[in-house]
Amino acid sequence: MNPPVVGVVFLGVFLAVGAAGAADYPVRPVPFTAVRLTDGFWKERQEINRTVTVPFALQQCEDSKRLQNFDLAAETMRRRAAGEAHFQNQPLTIFPFDDTDAYKAIEGASYVLSMQPDPALAARLDAWIARIAAAQEPDGYLYTFRTMHPDSPAHKWIAQERWVADPQLSHELYCAGHLYEAGVAHFEATGQRTLLAVCLKNAELLWRDFGDGQRRIAPGHEIVEIGLAKLYRVTGDRRWLQLAQIFLEARGPGGPSYNQQHRRVVDQTEAVGHAVRANYLYSGMADVAALSGDPRYLPALGKIWDNVAARKLYLTGGVGARPDGEAYGDDYELPNDGYNETCAAVALMMWAHRMFLLTGEARFMDVFERTGYNGFISGVSVSGDRFFYPNPLAYDGQKKNNNGYAGRAPWFGCACCPPNLMRLLASLTGYFYAVRGDELFVNVYAGSEGTADVAGTPVRLVQTTAYPWRGGVKLGVEPAKPARFTLKLRVPCWAQGRPVPTDLYAYDAGEPSGWSAKLNGEPIDSRLENGYLTIEREWRAGDAVELEFAMPIHAVYGNPKIAATLGRVAFERGPVVYCVESAGQAEPLTPEALTVPATALLQAVNRPDLLGGVTVLEIEGVEPVAHVTAIPYFAWDNRGLSPMAVWLRRP
Ligand SMILES: [Zn+2]
Repeated sequence: MNPPVVGVVFLGVFLAVGAAGAADYPVRPVPFTAVRLTDGFWKERQEINRTVTVPFALQQCEDSKRLQNFDLAAETMRRRAAGEAHFQNQPLTIFPFDDTDAYKAIEGASYVLSMQPDPALAARLDAWIARIAAAQEPDGYLYTFRTMHPDSPAHKWIAQERWVADPQLSHELYCAGHLYEAGVAHFEATGQRTLLAVCLKNAELLWRDFGDGQRRIAPGHEIVEIGLAKLYRVTGDRRWLQLAQIFLEARGPGGPSYNQQHRRVVDQTEAVGHAVRANYLYSGMADVAALSGDPRYLPALGKIWDNVAARKLYLTGGVGARPDGEAYGDDYELPNDGYNETCAAVALMMWAHRMFLLTGEARFMDVFERTGYNGFISGVSVSGDRFFYPNPLAYDGQKKNNNGYAGRAPWFGCACCPPNLMRLLASLTGYFYAVRGDELFVNVYAGSEGTADVAGTPVRLVQTTAYPWRGGVKLGVEPAKPARFTLKLRVPCWAQGRPVPTDLYAYDAGEPSGWSAKLNGEPIDSRLENGYLTIEREWRAGDAVELEFAMPIHAVYGNPKIAATLGRVAFERGPVVYCVESAGQAEPLTPEALTVPATALLQAVNRPDLLGGVTVLEIEGVEPVAHVTAIPYFAWDNRGLSPMAVWLRRP
């Protein structure tokens, strides 16, 4: 079988060495705190995240007794120290990884605090952190299910001895990883070392237990690698980076593919197993490659990425087709009712961004964008307080597929997804801009103001746009003093006639795509380099670039190797994928049974009154009803639960 045309596997990446001699990503992101949303799609959602989702998730963590687990662990230590040798507590929640929901909520809330002072929120986090710190054992161990119930395992996933069950399901190192991400976020937001001190005490324990590289424990649910890389960045202590690498090197060969222990990481070529774990692993590999300067991980990363982008990616940017094991499927195994966990979308965006930082290529941010506007933001309701755990592309109106619920739910027994979505949304502006030497990359289009440091010159960047509903973007470029540098503006692959940077999906032949650019009002040459419109010149205050991306409604077809999309068509406009749900239609209908012939007439209509303000597609000439309204996929199930489909029949 001939392989399809896939993106170029990159082998020739040069890892950057900074002025201080420490290796890092060749492309450096402009921090999220340097960019502020001003209006539009992401501003509205980030505001709902700040005002609704974050307080709601904090309350859910408290109401579901996740914080009380820390109190019970502290109580057990206290009473045993006071002489009650057999005292222990029973956990109040279901899973031994429930500690991580508190950590992720702190991380998300800290990003909110970084952007906007909020004394009440800061005080609430301080109180949480005190309770967490009190649950840490004297040697640094922090894992409430064991500490509150030390004489025998409190859960079937936990072994009598620390760490030994981590390669399976104990999630001890998973808890550590999310703790580190939270500790770093809280320190950077507040300057306080309270939670960071807890992290470092825990990391010292990991160094004592694993630092000599003799004990091979492959983390069963990856994230500790990313967390350790962040600890290294904030402290400069190379032990944390070495530990991350030790955990990478502990994987494979010969273990289960469920959690990517089947091969050594450098020998892995395909995305397999649990999709969230996988995407966190690949993100961790990218971090270690960049920060250590060790290029051995790069060929594997390139191959795995190409496998996902060319064979395992949903049109919505979701990944992880199988509910069984929450896992990647085989090549082209993309059933319409596939799983697509919200956390897998978050982790894919994290990984895609890291691939961009390694290479400076737009194709990774094209996938980032597709996931962001579709299979990621679908995970939260328009109201901000109801959530999806899986994000299928078709739904029958009844199945309890949402972690036991039918339709969007306020919280879950396994509540990984809501705080994960929350932390990415709160720090989204960190994905907008990046710098490599005298090159300034623009990846995300949204009404915003920010400042990037380009080769020593502060450059103020002001975006005015109604993206993704309209294709016009005006970017004001205002260097503090006239400065020569190269501006690189991502031209999304959808504006170049391809929904994805591979042959996994394609637009109807002959449909127009297109874009144009002006500099200070004059049309400019449209040279593209690695997906970026590249303008090198001396920039001065008052300069402005205008981009115009044509936004026709595109009919999309799946690669013929995808069984689920044969004889079906989907519609998108710009980066937004559409679906039909039964709710809100003039006549009763079954979305999956709708036939949309090529002769159907489609019209985009802006509806500021609907679903928080969306552009819908009015479709005439379908069967068996005459007319349907398609809404953005992310907005489904906000008007009552009903059947939904993205892929519709086309004869
Ligand atoms: Zn999740």
